[in-house]
Amino acid sequence: MRSTVSVIKADIGSLAGHHVVHPDTMAAANRVLAEAKRQGIILDYYITNVGDDLELIMSHTRGELDTKVHETAWDAFKEATKVSKELGLYAAGQDLLSDSFSGNLKGMGPGMAELDIEERPSEPIAIFMADKTEPGAFNLPLYKMFADPFNTAGLVIDPTMNEGFKFEVLDVYEGQSVILNSPEEIYSLLGLIGTPARYVIRRVYRKADNMLGSVTSIERLNLIAGKYVGKDDPVLIVRLQHGFPALGEALEAFSFPYLVPGWMRGSHYGPIMPVSQRDAKATRFDGPPRLIGLGFNVKNGRLTGPSDLFDDPAFDETRRMAAMITDYMRRHGPFMPHRLEPTEMEYTTLPTLIEKLKPRFKKEEDVAKAKPSVYTSKDQGMD
Ligand SMILES: [Mg+2]
Repeated sequence: MRSTVSVIKADIGSLAGHHVVHPDTMAAANRVLAEAKRQGIILDYYITNVGDDLELIMSHTRGELDTKVHETAWDAFKEATKVSKELGLYAAGQDLLSDSFSGNLKGMGPGMAELDIEERPSEPIAIFMADKTEPGAFNLPLYKMFADPFNTAGLVIDPTMNEGFKFEVLDVYEGQSVILNSPEEIYSLLGLIGTPARYVIRRVYRKADNMLGSVTSIERLNLIAGKYVGKDDPVLIVRLQHGFPALGEALEAFSFPYLVPGWMRGSHYGPIMPVSQRDAKATRFDGPPRLIGLGFNVKNGRLTGPSDLFDDPAFDETRRMAAMITDYMRRHGPFMPHRLEPTEMEYTTLPTLIEKLKPRFKKEEDVAKAKPSVYTSKDQGMD
């Protein structure tokens, strides 16, 4: 059976700053999705949050970029925004960049990843959702899951995976993508995806049969809006088992709390911290960047689950290391490399502040001329 899992997310305002979605806004979104399910637009759904992002997980048989499914998500965000405004929540409706819906959600603010597949007899998937970072943050774990045999034993052991995978990499600045083969082109692949702010792994396919293995959300809010309106916190869907990474191989890729851009004001590098659903709040310095993972099975377009994948003491050491790195990075205060590099700050308000100082900058020789001379050689009795 052909079915689609659409994960669509937006920050529609949060409680006491940018840290957590209010339950009443989730309830408002739930009413819209329940009605869409009753009408048969979607077959199943699950609503959750990570930090200040409201996440709508929907399953249906209507394919990608379907008008009705996207309109359902849009209505859910609109209704949630209404509640957000009534409660005076912070940054209400932040990610909704347009007043009216037209066709689909592309370029309208919400981020989305849609997995359109022919279901296998058993179709296990993991959905990873992060707050306070950007889509390129999934480059490193996707490489580990699908290309690194030190992470994924199946690349060595499983004959279907042994041929390798194809990575579709998008240049978000040029809007063009390239497909690179693993393992033959891994060095070129790493040459691109090591710059995650620009090159994002959009999809991964299994080489043996071109089967889609993962899909990442790629909307870059800061580029869409032309000015900074919040980091585009990403989502990722990964198919598991039977020729794809085992669940544990997908999770293993997050056992190291690597540094990602985002965090406070979308302007700092920090460690990504995999947490359980109940710890999916961005508190310390609005972070550190959080990641949750939910496991589902998809059957006849319906979702069974979820399992809260990082709700496990096996990830305690990862979290402890992330907390240590948080301390270490924070001590740099406003200095790079804790703060992002200037090109990544273009969409923040920092350039305006630097611009204000421009009239006060003088050439070196003018500074020297203007300097009051306190001691002359005469004063020093050297004549
Ligand atoms: Mg967010």
